[in-house]
Amino acid sequence: MLWVASLCLLLAPSILGAPTNKQRQKVLLISFDGFRWDYDRDVDTPHLDKMAKDGVKALYVTPPYLTITSPAHFSLLTGRYIENHGVIHNMWFNTTSTEKKPYYQTQFVNEWWDNGTLPIWITAQRQGLKSGSLHFPGTASSYQGEVAMVQEVEPLFYNYKNETAWRENAGKVMDWFSNQDLDFISLYFGEPDGIGHRYGPDSPERKEMVKQVDRTVGYIRHSAEQHGLNDRLNIIITADHGMSAVYRNGLVEEITLSKIPGFSFSDIAFHLVDFGPSGMLLPKPGKLQKVYDALKGSHPHLHVFKKEEMPERLHFAKNDRILPIILWSDPGYVINGYFPVQFHKGEHGFDNQDMDMKPFFRAVGPAFHKNLEVGPFETVDIYALMCHILGIKPEVNDGHLNSTKHMLVSSTTTQGEDVDFLNNIFNGLAAVAGFLVVVFIMVTSHKLLKDKRKNKRSVSSDQLPAKEMIYQTSL
Ligand SMILES: [Zn+2]
Repeated sequence: MLWVASLCLLLAPSILGAPTNKQRQKVLLISFDGFRWDYDRDVDTPHLDKMAKDGVKALYVTPPYLTITSPAHFSLLTGRYIENHGVIHNMWFNTTSTEKKPYYQTQFVNEWWDNGTLPIWITAQRQGLKSGSLHFPGTASSYQGEVAMVQEVEPLFYNYKNETAWRENAGKVMDWFSNQDLDFISLYFGEPDGIGHRYGPDSPERKEMVKQVDRTVGYIRHSAEQHGLNDRLNIIITADHGMSAVYRNGLVEEITLSKIPGFSFSDIAFHLVDFGPSGMLLPKPGKLQKVYDALKGSHPHLHVFKKEEMPERLHFAKNDRILPIILWSDPGYVINGYFPVQFHKGEHGFDNQDMDMKPFFRAVGPAFHKNLEVGPFETVDIYALMCHILGIKPEVNDGHLNSTKHMLVSSTTTQGEDVDFLNNIFNGLAAVAGFLVVVFIMVTSHKLLKDKRKNKRSVSSDQLPAKEMIYQTSL
């Protein structure tokens, strides 16, 4: 009897709320740069439609502000708003030397990325998982001396729209999952952003590129199946921001700072303008109010804010790297410095409330419900979702698992702090029931044996030797 109770006590902790012995699930996070939430509405996208049928489709996702590439991708990897993770721009800059580095070169400026917030690759690896990344912004940097264990950074002047290369990259990622048993991989494609800038979001060229994205999604899902990954791999597809058409050819009064009465670049120590619809200014000492007064209200489609007056909802103020004056324009407009130097037909970087800035979202795999359409959530919520599926404890972040948890099937319990509450209760009840069954069997068999011997004794106890009598009663 005692050994049965001991066995139950030994087994109970492993039954009550502990990880199940199911295989750990994997996550592939894919970003198609600049894929707006509604790009599938005017193009046939059979593979994206099939993915939505087999999994989950969100109406759209709200990206972090500033709605540009490197900052928004780092929010995907960290679950933090941009003011909190510190990668505040695509460009590294130094306000003292006035030096700036463009997008590609900034990928290699370690201190720009590694400033206190850990991307999911490193967190996963510290908890015993294996991570990889292919071309995803932030891949080239190390974080507290650590990097994703398998990684590939694109070369300078990389052709981001070559479909053959896309398939090769998808093949590499599937190989990393199946042959190197990686648990998490981030995979980046540079389109339809490039084509959206060049031809505009309403162009036939953009529609053709969406078809290429769709074919690639079909290829990736087929490849996952061929590698036998379907029962363990969850594929999440989203983007960093959307795209909005820019008014050109004298259709509107352009925003050109040098033409604004009372404003002079001689009052500015450092600036980031001629970068689409967003800008930041560092006025010279004593000139902040003068610059602000000149710009505020100068154009009906130009928004001017002192850093400390930025709307709270944008989460773009509380960081030393953000300059004292922040500018942005309404959709359709860009901010020029001395004269127009940008000739894109499409832009992003606008207010994240603007519908044109919202990315798409699809997810499929064993963790997700099938044929489910859900309402919008934020880009920063995706991090907590991925940590939950991987069974790792997330770092401090700005997202909420409750915003996305309804997309998951209830059995998505792996391990970590988010062990499903209902599963815990079920396992606990099962353990108690098991224990009671064992006790019942013991008591019943003991009673039966006792009754049997009692009957036997009542018949012939007087005929048994004294030694045997003592043995029987001691049972
Ligand atoms: Zn982008």
